[in-house]
Amino acid sequence: MRRLSIGVRLTLWYLAIFALAQLVFGAGMWLVLRHNLYDLVDDGLEAQVDDLKNFLQSQPKDLPIAKLQEEVNETYAIEHSGDYLEVYAENDLLIYRSAFVQAHQSALLPPDQVKRPVMRSRRIDGRPFRFLLQKLNVNDHVYTVEMGVPADDAVETLHLFRSYLLMFAPLLLLVAAGGGYWLSRRALSPVDALVRTARAVSGTNLNSRLQKLETGDELQRLSDTLNEMLDRIESAFLRITQFTADASHELRTPVSLIRTEAELALRRSRGEDEYKESLRHILLEAERTTALIEQLLSLARTDSGRETLHLQPVDLRQTLRSVVDGWQQVATIRNLQFSASLDAPDDDAPDSSVLGDETLLRRLADILLDNAFKYTPSPGSVHVSLESKGERAVISVQDSGIGIAEEDQSRIFERFYRVDKARSRAQGGAGLGLAIAQWIVTQHRGSIEVESRPGHGATFRVELPMIAAPVQNPLPA
Ligand code: ADP
Repeated sequence: MRRLSIGVRLTLWYLAIFALAQLVFGAGMWLVLRHNLYDLVDDGLEAQVDDLKNFLQSQPKDLPIAKLQEEVNETYAIEHSGDYLEVYAENDLLIYRSAFVQAHQSALLPPDQVKRPVMRSRRIDGRPFRFLLQKLNVNDHVYTVEMGVPADDAVETLHLFRSYLLMFAPLLLLVAAGGGYWLSRRALSPVDALVRTARAVSGTNLNSRLQKLETGDELQRLSDTLNEMLDRIESAFLRITQFTADASHELRTPVSLIRTEAELALRRSRGEDEYKESLRHILLEAERTTALIEQLLSLARTDSGRETLHLQPVDLRQTLRSVVDGWQQVATIRNLQFSASLDAPDDDAPDSSVLGDETLLRRLADILLDNAFKYTPSPGSVHVSLESKGERAVISVQDSGIGIAEEDQSRIFERFYRVDKARSRAQGGAGLGLAIAQWIVTQHRGSIEVESRPGHGATFRVELPMIAAPVQNPLPA
């Protein structure tokens, strides 16, 4: 089932609460009015009973009953207040009973059961009455009195009040529903505006933003948060677009080189040596393309979060030693001095183990060494060292090569950034190595920085948090 909109739901809630409040208020008012009206009627009734008491008191003490009956009849039979009156003396001796009471005999209680004054409402011939039954102690006699008054006015007023309530309640509810709906629409209109603009945002106009609200409330916070989210999505989207464009561009170069080389070789028939030379070039470019694709894939995996780390304690000293061994031959071929200081200064030196992914850490060292060799012309030197600084291991790769200008130092970690495009390409670089290196370092909660002066070489320094060396239990003496 389709859920109702927030606006309609708010209105319904508002209406339900309003109706409940109206019901409680109406019923309360009705009860208060009823109580007050009956109070008025009862006050009149009590006053009439008091009158009767005064009348009885004014009679001589030893007046015979027959005489008293006569006196009461004379006074009350013609008086209005005597219409609904019944008086008994002791022993259920009737003193006075009006014609009306006689016609509608229905004494509420036998006179001897009337202990305290009793107030009762009764309907007689469809007319509402209030009756008061009370014992009167007068001149050493106990009289039981039942006095009544019509309560039409009170009941009519109550009826009228109820009719007005029932008449106006639906009207008020209708107005409340309209008002509630208008209020909710007004309160939610910024949401509609947000929805409209949000609908218009797509991949082609990611730079458009939701309408800025100045309401200072939750809706403003919502629109600000959504706009911040759009900022992040836009920059991620731009990064991806840029990455795709750069990657395509990078891939186009080697492929067109391979193609040109092949076309040239096929244009006319050549000797075996020439073909071999061409194939060597093609092979070289193909190898570079493979390396480039590997790097691109690696970055794509890191972007999508699919590059998982296999963390385990890694002995950096040992890992670096084996990486350095692998580069010895390159150093010889390139005629560069290659040295490493990886030995622990003494046996008590702390273990340089880090919690990391050994393959990635090897790759990090390979990238830094590859760069050092690429950008250091012969004769020159490359030096690798490992030290510990507090709880961090510091790997330094220092070369005496061409160095990096100050303004480039902050940019070399960006993807595809190369200081000298032609030179870097000639060395087989696409400007992705340091971006990958930085990702590896970040994943290991470390930091990487460069220190360099053009013409005076460069030093790349990587700091990684070490894991505490296991405490060696001293042997018992
Ligand atoms: P590349 O594959 O082009 O070497 P990197 O991301 O590894 O890409 O490096 C980016 C750029 O930083 C390089 O093109 C180069 O200009 C510069 N660079 C990196 N390492 C060194 C270094 N040791 N000496 C001088 N320049 C360097």
